[in-house]
Amino acid sequence: MTQDDFDIHNSAAERDGDYERALRPGRFEAFAGQDKIVENLRVFVQAARMRGEPLDHLLLHGPPGLGKTTLSAIIANELGVGFKVTSGPVLDKPGDLAGILTSLDENDVLFIDEIHRLSHTVEEYLYSAMEDYRIDIMIDKGPGARSVQLTLSPFTLVGATTRSGLLTPPLRARFGIDCHLEYYDHEVLERIILRSARLLGVECTGTAAHEIALRSRGTPRIANALLRRVRDFAQVKGTGNIDVEIARYSLEALNIDRYGLNDIDNKLLRTVITKFNGGPVGLSTISTAMGEDSGTIEDVYEPFLIKEGFLKRTPRGREVTDLAWRHLGFETPGIGLFNNQ
Ligand code: ADP
Repeated sequence: MTQDDFDIHNSAAERDGDYERALRPGRFEAFAGQDKIVENLRVFVQAARMRGEPLDHLLLHGPPGLGKTTLSAIIANELGVGFKVTSGPVLDKPGDLAGILTSLDENDVLFIDEIHRLSHTVEEYLYSAMEDYRIDIMIDKGPGARSVQLTLSPFTLVGATTRSGLLTPPLRARFGIDCHLEYYDHEVLERIILRSARLLGVECTGTAAHEIALRSRGTPRIANALLRRVRDFAQVKGTGNIDVEIARYSLEALNIDRYGLNDIDNKLLRTVITKFNGGPVGLSTISTAMGEDSGTIEDVYEPFLIKEGFLKRTPRGREVTDLAWRHLGFETPGIGLFNNQ
């Protein structure tokens, strides 16, 4: 990549980041779906506000792009407090954690993304911060080393993770509220797309939004990204408005899978079909055959494939369904058998 390419790439990423911020709902009303979670959080937020206390520490888990960061920012907004964002891999040393914790004002929300990637040392410092709002920090090294206790303002920690299985039990136990975000239904994604189109100032028909929703892998981030690409096609190849024809044309041109599956989803299904005749096969065997981490397959990829009916978990292992065979252009084993008879 040349420097120019790099700059162009970076500024495109920045623009995408800007859009992501612009499309991010700021209030519970604008956050579509996840009804049960939102309903409960509204109560907890209102109660915390009435008591003038910080909200209990909250753990949000679920695949990427489902709204964990968005929901956390909404919570801070609805509480009327400050919002700070960091992530597990960034908090390298206890001093980094101490720095951010001491900068918090009363009842602020601190969001730690990828909290499963915190180092053990930093995690241990977090325990007393979460429990007693204090942190013991070592100053100096060698004979002059001493421990200083810092008192923190009460705060709410929101931890987000795609891999809740990797959280240590002591950390997990310190979260008073635990929410699992689910993939979104097409109908909810349609609403999100129509709202985003309004914010982007582009007309989009309901059927076009439906078409985009079908290919968004149950994920608002993907829905918004596809909408922006379709908008480009509409502007250059169409009238500027998004109707179902231009939506279909763009999605074909972008080579988007008609069920919204991504490369790894398809690789997983293809591996089970071609190497294990459709299964059943154990998760660790699939993971070795694909060269992918088994936990990531289990937490990030499988849930969507199961929800959409491509894969089943059976007591003897994972098994693909007829839909998966047909989707990848194979004859289903049942039909193959029938044909041979
Ligand atoms: P995560 O933190 O889970 O990876 P984000 O909170 O960054 O996901 O969400 C990605 C994008 O998807 C956001 O910019 C936001 O615009 C959009 N989004 C996520 N959830 C919703 C929702 N429920 N309603 C509307 N937009 C949403």
